[in-house]
Amino acid sequence: MSQEDKVKKAAELIKNSDYVVAFTGAGISVESGIPDFRSPGGLWERYNPNEYANYFTFLTHPEKYWTMHMELREMVRDAQPNPAHNALATLEHEYGKLKSVITQNVDFLHSRAGNTKVLELHGTAQTSRCLGCDKTFYFTKVEEMLDQGQVPPRCPHCKGLIKTNTILFGEDLPNDVVEQSREEMIAADLLIVIGSSLTVYPAAALPSIAVKTGSRLIIVNKEITPMDIYADVAIQGMAGVILPRILTVLEEIS
Ligand code: NAD
Repeated sequence: MSQEDKVKKAAELIKNSDYVVAFTGAGISVESGIPDFRSPGGLWERYNPNEYANYFTFLTHPEKYWTMHMELREMVRDAQPNPAHNALATLEHEYGKLKSVITQNVDFLHSRAGNTKVLELHGTAQTSRCLGCDKTFYFTKVEEMLDQGQVPPRCPHCKGLIKTNTILFGEDLPNDVVEQSREEMIAADLLIVIGSSLTVYPAAALPSIAVKTGSRLIIVNKEITPMDIYADVAIQGMAGVILPRILTVLEEIS
């Protein structure tokens, strides 16, 4: 099937669905200037994730995590939602089709694009919290500490270690978010997976719940994923190009 035919098929699937759920990964934010970690040249080439993004390393050598974070923070701070994020907002607000976005991303771009129900499986970089007294800090406060050379930043109240509210390897995913995501997978009659390698577990196990409970499946990703064989349509391409093309066809056939 040509890519154009796949785009048409995806638009028809959306048109014929009532409860669409999106599942997104780092790939959807690449065109906003935030690289995914796994691709060549990505952050994982310089920072071994098992060391730098590991909770136990964080507790013993927090400066390692914060050094990596300082490289990421400017990209995340300056990033704007791209046409793929905006397409998901359109599917929610103009078509009333999209009921939720379940994301592995920590960059807040879905909420900034306007989606209202965003379930963040891996937490958020918007806020941090003190591991000592549990006080929450907005990211600008932590930025100030980093700019003043406090690496790692420490709580001004109890001197405890401050950690972003993102999930590191070795930490559990937030139970309530996982439970709500499962419910969304079961409720979906169409799941759209965008920009995820579907290899980061346990998050990557969620789409199979939707398939097992009767949902149709669209995958939009730069490369093949292990779930392409279960998809009604799998489109290899850039999310910021493919999603607007699907919306154009949807508008024509609606
Ligand atoms: P991942 O497993 O979700 O893989 C990203 C996928 O996106 C890859 O298969 C890649 O081929 C694809 N891709 C790249 N550019 C694309 C584009 N323009 N359009 C469509 N697909 C594209 O993510 P990862 O990089 O392995 O990161 C692992 C985890 O690290 C994530 O699950 C997330 O928690 C975190 N992370 C978050 C961000 C963010 O918040 N923006 C960025 C990097 C990593």
